[in-house]
Amino acid sequence: MFGNILRGSLQISSCGFLFKTLERGMMYDLVIIGSGFAGLAALKKAVAMGLATCLVYRDFGATQHFSGAFDVADPRLNNACIMPHEFPLIHAALDDFIRAHPGHLYSRIFSQKNITTGDLVGEMRGFFDFYGIPVVSDQHMVTVFGSTGAFKPTGFALKTQGLTVSDISRHQKAVFIHFPLIKDYHPQGIKAGLSKVFKEVRVVAAAGVPFNKATSLTVLLRYFDDAAHGLAGFRDFLKNTVQAGEIVFIPPVLGVKNTFTIHAELEKTLNTRVVEMLSGLPSSAGLRLEQIINRFFVTQFKESEKIKILKATVAGFTADGGKVLSVKTVSTHGTVDEVEGRSFILATGKYLGGGIAKDPCFKETVFNLPLFCDGRALNPNLPTTELISKDPLQRQLLFDVGVGTGPHSSPPAHYSQASVYENLKACGAVLSGAGCLSDGGGFGLGVLSALNAH
Ligand SMILES: Cc1cc2nc3c(=O)[nH]c(=O)nc-3n(C[C@H](O)[C@H](O)[C@H](O)COP(=O)(O)OP(=O)(O)OC[C@H]3O[C@@H](n4cnc5c(N)ncnc54)[C@H](O)[C@@H]3O)c2cc1C
Repeated sequence: MFGNILRGSLQISSCGFLFKTLERGMMYDLVIIGSGFAGLAALKKAVAMGLATCLVYRDFGATQHFSGAFDVADPRLNNACIMPHEFPLIHAALDDFIRAHPGHLYSRIFSQKNITTGDLVGEMRGFFDFYGIPVVSDQHMVTVFGSTGAFKPTGFALKTQGLTVSDISRHQKAVFIHFPLIKDYHPQGIKAGLSKVFKEVRVVAAAGVPFNKATSLTVLLRYFDDAAHGLAGFRDFLKNTVQAGEIVFIPPVLGVKNTFTIHAELEKTLNTRVVEMLSGLPSSAGLRLEQIINRFFVTQFKESEKIKILKATVAGFTADGGKVLSVKTVSTHGTVDEVEGRSFILATGKYLGGGIAKDPCFKETVFNLPLFCDGRALNPNLPTTELISKDPLQRQLLFDVGVGTGPHSSPPAHYSQASVYENLKACGAVLSGAGCLSDGGGFGLGVLSALNAH
């Protein structure tokens, strides 16, 4: 057992929320480690199953850097030239992807699990309803635009950031509002990108918000967050600028606190769609998601007897033979706790999330599980550099490294052998084969693998 562990202590999260103390000797049905897409999907399922659950998380992992697009599968992997008005039904895109990539993690999970791609789409919609995340949602994939102006298909997008097939079909004109000091959204590239989708594209310099040499994206986000400024200046500028029939594109500047209210007010005033381009870093979309989830944790679970949300790092565990008994958690204030559970789900992400370390060799950071890459066990002494290709067009094997899984997401000791711990499962980007950005399935794979882990 751990030395010096306080149990039943007060937990104050670093975001300022006070959660109930851990009960002395409380045994949870399930302990989930991680609150990215995968951990959150696992938590939703646990709540539906009525399980006494403790979710432990350090931060929001790679999920807090997401662009605003909830990626499911990229139909361009089968059809490179597909245009936004031709984007397929979401479940059909998944069906096509699985047929074309039989070895992919998606295909492997679907072949084990008795659910259809339509069921998964339903689960994803349920995820947004459960957490109260406002999204652009359609039967078909939605269109989002990157900072270069290039469009891409995605499953769902934050409400301010996507267009449906119907939005695209009804509009032929677009105007991009250029904020001169936000360098990542270059007007010429964006004009060229939008011109692939719209017949007429204008670029107009923004006004109605104060600019000086120090105006960065962060400054603008704060400006729109500060209710004292009001929205009047920018709204009036748009009212005088936007022409009939134009969709309005802007960088993702509309604050992080009241974004969806501001956005709705702009769309109502202008009577057209207002679309933010996808977020880069720092990710305004990620900050917005974080706000929504933190609020959800407090309003839904602060008083809950069954669900405990613990902002802390898992820094050790106890096990008895083939079973994990508990994890040791350390809060940002240094409070140490022990969380006991009957079963555990590892949803710790990959390099950004912290689930896999890569310096100087690869390592699973919580349970020291064996790692796999491209279907094979990974030599624990292999230098990280061996899996990085200098050719940017080559597949980067580094992103395939992760925990291997047997049926139902149990990490095997070696491929196709018994599980390391019988009550430990894994989901999301920590899995080998969850290829990060390369397969365009970040969110969808997180939700599917979380279902599989239950
Ligand atoms: C830069 C970037 C941008 C991306 N953009 C998109 C996008 O726009 N759309 C999309 O669909 N996908 C995107 N992806 C892919 C997507 O972000 C990932 O697939 C997804 O976030 C993985 O979710 P996850 O829950 O598995 O892991 P993560 O989101 O990384 O979450 C890991 C969780 O585990 C916690 N954790 C880790 N170790 C510990 C520990 N020891 N103790 C306690 N907690 C711990 C972390 O704090 C975090 O809560 C992006 C990926 C990257 C790297």
